[in-house]
Amino acid sequence: MSPEGVRHLAALGVLDAVEGAGGFPIRGTRVSAPHGASLTGLFARAGHPFRSTGLSVPRRTLDHALVRAARAAGAEIREGSSVVDVVREENRITGLVTREGGRHHRIMARLVVGADGLHSVMARSIGRRHTGLLRRYALAAHVESVAGLGDTAELHVGPDGYAGLNPLGGGVANVALVIPRSRMLQMRGNAPGFFFEELERFPGVRGRVQPSRLVRRVMATGPFARWTSPATAPGAVLLGDAADFFDPFTGEGMCAAFRGAELVEETLLEPLLGRAPLDRHALVRYRAARRQAFLGKWIVERLVGHAMLSPAFFNRAVRRIEQYDLSHTLIAVTGDYLPARAVLNPRFFAQVVL
Ligand SMILES: Cc1cc2nc3c(=O)[nH]c(=O)nc-3n(C[C@H](O)[C@H](O)[C@H](O)COP(=O)(O)OP(=O)(O)OC[C@H]3O[C@@H](n4cnc5c(N)ncnc54)[C@H](O)[C@@H]3O)c2cc1C
Repeated sequence: MSPEGVRHLAALGVLDAVEGAGGFPIRGTRVSAPHGASLTGLFARAGHPFRSTGLSVPRRTLDHALVRAARAAGAEIREGSSVVDVVREENRITGLVTREGGRHHRIMARLVVGADGLHSVMARSIGRRHTGLLRRYALAAHVESVAGLGDTAELHVGPDGYAGLNPLGGGVANVALVIPRSRMLQMRGNAPGFFFEELERFPGVRGRVQPSRLVRRVMATGPFARWTSPATAPGAVLLGDAADFFDPFTGEGMCAAFRGAELVEETLLEPLLGRAPLDRHALVRYRAARRQAFLGKWIVERLVGHAMLSPAFFNRAVRRIEQYDLSHTLIAVTGDYLPARAVLNPRFFAQVVL
């Protein structure tokens, strides 16, 4: 997470717990392009970040802190319970059907918030699910003793995909491989073998990640570039990956999820506290707030994701960004603490593209 993610953790009151459990401060991100160009964006060098470092933390630690905080705030947490469907009454979502211990239950609600991730059951029930052209998949694992890892995240872009190395502290790194569907089909059931073999294709990763140092199994997910429109239905809203997730490259999926939750609170809490049913206008306000908060970032992440399809262009763009000292600005935009217009402007385009 960038410093903006850290700001969200502080606002939720979980930062001390997460850091106490071993979150690792990172100073920024280094991107290596296919033909040798590279850039390093440091969080402290552009915009006004919440603090000078971001935070790298295993999901096990982060999710545990969030669940504890939610419980302490009065939420009822039902672990081992899955949502299998929504309850609909006269074209309105009025609750959920869950399965727990082999039995089905109904939970009725004035507002259902679908925050159930990339493969969201809620998203399928609410709107139309779209998949973009870039059907990338990820394989990710935790690996010990990755050679040469410092205090920045690393992204190594190849001709068709990229690898990410993220220090997690305690000598462990999160290692991710993101590849197109065509390449993923070559995995043929041997995820660990394929994962380590593919990592070796990236010159900047070769020889640094040892299969014998795997400490958490290789997990797969995808395809990405999926979104739901509209992100609301009468009685329900979506947020986080359930609403939209493009690609892990520009990071900050967590920030988008946290910000989405804030927007639900900002636009829907007041009408929820009233007695009247949540009307269409409240949902329209939520969608408009999402658009205002995320549109610029959606454009930036799609531009970056598609630029990667041309290795020569991507390489040149990375070289130019570093040459004109724009790396920190770009990292601040992808890190969500500088508005997207800092890169979506003619001057930036002229420097990077022309
Ligand atoms: C390889 C990879 C690397 C990434 N790296 C980063 C990064 O460095 N920084 C960053 O900010 N983001 C990163 N992301 C993106 C980030 O993980 C997501 O954007 C973020 O987790 C979205 O949060 P969410 O709450 O919407 O969904 P999730 O975190 O997926 O949470 C969804 C929750 O819903 C639960 N759930 C799902 N279905 C059901 C159901 N039917 N019933 C009940 N519960 C259900 C799940 O168990 C889960 O707890 C990465 C993603 C990938 C794939």
